Amino acid sequence: MTGAPARPPLLQMALRIEHDIFLVRQRGREVAAAVGLEHQDQVRIATALSEVARDLLHGVGGADVSFHVDDGSDGRCHLRVDLAPTRPLPGDRYEPQSGAVARLVDRLGVIGVGRDTVVRMSRRVPVAAQALTQERLAELRAELGRSAPGSALDELAAQNQQLIAALDEVRSQRDELAVLNEELQETNRGVMALYGQLSEELEETNRGVVALHAELDEKSAQLRAASESKSRFLANVSHELRAPVTAIIGLGRLLADSASDPLTEEQAEQVGLIRSSASDLLTLVNELLDLAKAESGRIEPEWADIDLRPVFGQLRGTLRAVATRPEVQLVVEEPPSPATLRTDEVLLGQVLRNLLHNGLKFTERGEVRLRARRRDDTWLLTVTDTGPGIAPELHERVFEEFYQVPGAIRVGGTGLGLPYARRLTALLGGSLHLTSEPGRGSTFTVTLPAGGA
Ligand code: ADP
Repeated sequence: MTGAPARPPLLQMALRIEHDIFLVRQRGREVAAAVGLEHQDQVRIATALSEVARDLLHGVGGADVSFHVDDGSDGRCHLRVDLAPTRPLPGDRYEPQSGAVARLVDRLGVIGVGRDTVVRMSRRVPVAAQALTQERLAELRAELGRSAPGSALDELAAQNQQLIAALDEVRSQRDELAVLNEELQETNRGVMALYGQLSEELEETNRGVVALHAELDEKSAQLRAASESKSRFLANVSHELRAPVTAIIGLGRLLADSASDPLTEEQAEQVGLIRSSASDLLTLVNELLDLAKAESGRIEPEWADIDLRPVFGQLRGTLRAVATRPEVQLVVEEPPSPATLRTDEVLLGQVLRNLLHNGLKFTERGEVRLRARRRDDTWLLTVTDTGPGIAPELHERVFEEFYQVPGAIRVGGTGLGLPYARRLTALLGGSLHLTSEPGRGSTFTVTLPAGGA
């Protein structure tokens, strides 16, 4: 928007006396209206002009004022007013008396035009205004040339009008602000109410959760108490049963002893039946006692760093006596070294013996295999057999007390071995899992932390 004006000015006028200030103001507003500035902008540019005109009249005795329309580099038209002072500005500088003047227009400043300096102000014409073609500008030039400036009184009246309009606008804006404020307060009240409601609901929920927790605590305490009394009952009953059952076995042995009076064949058979039933009963009583002990937490593992190899060796030896079927092979693999593990050797032996015993009991042909593998910080001890296998839906049930797979071959037993083995494994800090499918054998896996629980 800089550079020499290419077109003739829309209007020119001289500012020499006080009265001219009114005229400059009035003409400024007219030109602004003619090129299409909005009402507010017309008042702004007229006000800025009268302020600058007053400064220049008092400062340097006046100026020649010219109005132009330029095409700006932004593709938009700009109304430009040049005020060429009659005497040079002191130091070629100009500062408006009122600092607010510069804010009324887009640009206000001193510009060098040839060897002279002019005070220049400009304001952008809105896009919505009528296009300022060469013809339109010529028309405006002619119109402005024809119209005669009004008197100072006219200008005062016009200014009054503008002031009233401005006051009106301020009032309506203030009213709008009041309405907005009211709405804002209303919204605030709503938000506060919602917040209150939410916190109340939250508190309510919290109270519910606390009550639920208390109930849960109470239920688990009851459960614990029930489980303890069950264990106590089992322990007492089995303990009380053990002495008479042992006595029956002893008496049976005495009766069958060759040193005693000889028995008839039938009597001998009946005594044999009594002895085998009593020894089944003793097994059951002993297992019940073991399980009750494990459940009541009265078994304290004796932790020690052990070597798996002798443990496996002993199992190989003792279970060979149980593996009586020639069609079933017992394979106890050599554990990979170093085969060290922190655990209770006796309890671990019981768990593995139990699993191997089951394998040998239920497998009719093939093999039962014990294998140890190390994975990171754990030992996986697996007992795999080629027996009948167990349906997936029973994988957890076989760990329940007294549960025996229905329809399976009956080979004695109490249904307490697996729950006991799982209980002991847990005491050793590990877990016992089963993978199996009917007809494809079973694999029981004992997972133990190498460093102990
Ligand atoms: P028990 O062997 O004294 O019956 P357990 O608790 O050791 O009791 O086992 C529960 C049941 O799980 C067994 O009765 C049997 O039906 C099933 N079971 C256990 N081990 C095996 C196995 N290796 N193969 C097939 N079935 C098994």
